[in-house]
Amino acid sequence: MHAHSGYARACCGDFGAARVGRRGLLLGMSAILALPRFALAASGEYEAMILGCIDPRMQTPVRRFALDRGLIGDYSQFTIAGAAIGVVASKFADWHKAFWDNLAITLELHEIKTLIAIDHRDCGAAKVAYGDDCCSTPEKENATHKAALAEFRKQVADRQPKIKVETLLMALDGTYIPLG
Ligand SMILES: [Zn+2]
Repeated sequence: MHAHSGYARACCGDFGAARVGRRGLLLGMSAILALPRFALAASGEYEAMILGCIDPRMQTPVRRFALDRGLIGDYSQFTIAGAAIGVVASKFADWHKAFWDNLAITLELHEIKTLIAIDHRDCGAAKVAYGDDCCSTPEKENATHKAALAEFRKQVADRQPKIKVETLLMALDGTYIPLG
């Protein structure tokens, strides 16, 4: 980590020099384009991470959400079956570390400010985690996701207390409610 931080600082120094050169805009732009992407990342200009489910039906609604929120090109994404359920359900215990490690990396590299967890309705992974009956009515489905998203929020607060967290339950048509 220290070696990495040192490298990031070295990149920032180069980037700063490039910015001085931006008084001549073309020179500045070419210098910036020549830098590896993480040099820009170290400047901390990214906004969010979106945690979503692997369900193919959610690609379009999640992208539309990001578009509406002005986040295209400005968020990192972590996609795992069940979204927040994939991170907290004991059924998926083997996956949890991968999420927390990725969250730590996106905080370090991209300096994101907000973590947005998007669970969704009719989620197959929710049923794998908690049984078919977990989501057999809208009320049960809400309660299942509310509990998982609240647990997710609690675990994030324990591990990364500085980050802002949004927890949502999205329908397949892209409409969503804050939950948890
Ligand atoms: Zn799902």
